[in-house]
Amino acid sequence: MSFMDPVERFDNTAHAGRMNADAVDGTDRTVDRAVERTVDRGNDRTAPALVGLSPDQIATLLAELPGGERRFRGEQVFRWLHARRAADFAAMTDLPADLRQAMAGRFSATELELVTEARSSESTTTKLVLATRDGAEIETVLIVTPRRTTVCLSSQVGCGLGCTFCRTARMGHVRNLEAGEIVDQLLHVHRREPMPERYNLVFMGMGEPLANYERVIEATDLLARPEGLAIGPRRITVSTAGLAPEIERLARERPRLKLAVSLNATTDAQRSKLMPIGRRYPLERLMRAVQFHVRTTRRRVTFEYVLLAGVNDSLEDAERLVGLVDRIPCKINLIPMNGDGMTEYSAPSTEALERFAHYLYPRTYAVTVRATQGRDILAACGQLARLPAGVDRGSPPA
Ligand code: SF4
Repeated sequence: MSFMDPVERFDNTAHAGRMNADAVDGTDRTVDRAVERTVDRGNDRTAPALVGLSPDQIATLLAELPGGERRFRGEQVFRWLHARRAADFAAMTDLPADLRQAMAGRFSATELELVTEARSSESTTTKLVLATRDGAEIETVLIVTPRRTTVCLSSQVGCGLGCTFCRTARMGHVRNLEAGEIVDQLLHVHRREPMPERYNLVFMGMGEPLANYERVIEATDLLARPEGLAIGPRRITVSTAGLAPEIERLARERPRLKLAVSLNATTDAQRSKLMPIGRRYPLERLMRAVQFHVRTTRRRVTFEYVLLAGVNDSLEDAERLVGLVDRIPCKINLIPMNGDGMTEYSAPSTEALERFAHYLYPRTYAVTVRATQGRDILAACGQLARLPAGVDRGSPPA
């Protein structure tokens, strides 16, 4: 059996670069479905959105409407927004008509507006480009395989960590997303695509989720609410480039969320070159945080390792990697670089990939090789970005 057999299709991607990608502009030859920007009818885009609020917070706002509303309305509206995915107050048919009208006059049901939807030629990957109220665009990716369905969420507009192999890094850090903007990404996916009852969520879209810790946690708490989407923390993976103190905080505060760490290098010099965050948190500090996480949560961690031809794919790298993760219950997810013409990096040869993986197999707990999904719509790992006009966007691989 070749090592490619137990392919893990995206179960625990990491920051191994973002899965999203640069513009799907509707003219891309691989896009089989693109939609024009759609304004959500019945939603005033300047009005405060109710998505992203808890039932209690919604109840407090509704109590301020003329005539006031009783507290149970908060949960009723929350249920409509999340469990029934209503994008318009008019759809909330078991609410009194005057309340629906009053809400439409004061609030918006949604945060984000769909700009474009694109599906990869193999039809396993769908990318939504969504506009925020301040005009930024973020990307959300749905990956469907026979074994599992995964939604990849963005946590920031752009990213300030500057990993040299990642397209999102080219945007720089624009701003953190609010909890409602994170939750609404998933609601948009639900409205556009048939979704199974159980699926996984990964914070591997644009941005470093642990650099937007509070809002990401707020969003996962909202997603877990039983009267809403009821997505438990065990189905959510937070992927970090290596913010050591936040890894420890996550272990203490939300031990049931899964953790993935984007490692990508086995020496400090090599890692700092690929991931400047390595200068702030050298490998010794990062691995200490990971060990704390594993000890505290009693959960396995996933290490993402993007293989870059001639950079980190040698047998010496594999040997050092084995030493680094020694005694840490973990899975190593190998990700061949998604070349996109924008960076100096390219995918390793099949021989190099096999040599690397075969070295790891008998010496580590678990190794998987990620099958690349969505490369043709630039929705694969490391390809997400919304770049301004004039910036070389590269092109999807042939
Ligand atoms: S630049 Fe940001 S989004 Fe890209 S891989 Fe690094 S941490 Fe992740």
